[in-house]
Amino acid sequence: MSDRSVTVIGLGPMGQAMIRTFLGAGVEVTVWNRSLEKADAMVELGATRAATVAEALDANELIVVSLTDYAAMFDVLGPVPDRLAGKVFANLSSDSPANTRDAGAWVRARGGAFLAGGVMAQSDGLANPESYVFFAGPPTVFEKHRDLLQVLGAPEYLGDDEGLAQLYYQAVLAIFNPLLLGFEQALAMIERSGETIERFLPYAQRSMGQLDGVYTGFAAAAQAGGWGDAANLRMMAAGARHVIETGEAVGVDTALAETVHGYWQQAIAASERRGHPVPTFALMRGDQP
Ligand code: NDP
Repeated sequence: MSDRSVTVIGLGPMGQAMIRTFLGAGVEVTVWNRSLEKADAMVELGATRAATVAEALDANELIVVSLTDYAAMFDVLGPVPDRLAGKVFANLSSDSPANTRDAGAWVRARGGAFLAGGVMAQSDGLANPESYVFFAGPPTVFEKHRDLLQVLGAPEYLGDDEGLAQLYYQAVLAIFNPLLLGFEQALAMIERSGETIERFLPYAQRSMGQLDGVYTGFAAAAQAGGWGDAANLRMMAAGARHVIETGEAVGVDTALAETVHGYWQQAIAASERRGHPVPTFALMRGDQP
């Protein structure tokens, strides 16, 4: 065990990327995975294989966990509750804020310390300069291990409440997931219409460049209740209908476009009921109809 050593539990694409990144930075890494054979490639790179979870925990103070979800953490650590004392668990797996807070309490009840994290990078993009990692948990624990953790990407520390790391991570994904599907929907429309994806791509990329300003405007509008007067809502609903018609005409799946259109229809209906504009943000926030 040294100041520059860590245990990584979980050898999915993200866990493996973390191990490569740690090793590349000269950090000693001990690894454990449920399917033991996945460790072979990591051992070839210089990692040390732990034969059991207990051995993996005993190897280092800092234990980075990268599993599918927090239920997997309980499956892995549940059988060795007496080995958690004195360890610091940095769980960088995705889950809900509530499950994360429960996991933090569970670890602390067994004498361990707990940090939650959310990696804002694809597994093959940890080294990209724009990559970063949300962290939350006790500030003294975070500060003590900051040097090692920041090897994985610039840390964005959000405070003591470990649920915040998941909240911010899931909020960014709430943008990113529909964005990816919307992009694929657009590509399908282009391709099915006999155009090439290659020709369309620069226009999609150009629209991304405008998003900074759009976010700033929509964030300010949200703080004031949401964007859109009655005319805006009607214009957006009509535009969203045109996306559906364009896709339908060439046989593209329009379920996503229908969902999007449905929000503006709902907003128009709510506005008519209430006698004043009800922006889509109010629907998202769950304001009473
Ligand atoms: P995977 O879902 O591929 O992780 C699989 C890992 O979890 C494997 O080590 C697997 O073990 C283990 N696992 C799953 N269930 C259990 C269980 N019940 N008991 C023991 N081990 C279990 O995900 P990734 O590696 O891609 O990602 C890990 C985390 O990082 C996820 O929460 C993901 O959302 C997040 N993330 C991933 C990104 C990416 O680009 N991949 C980007 C940002 C965040 P086994 O090998 O035995 O199946």
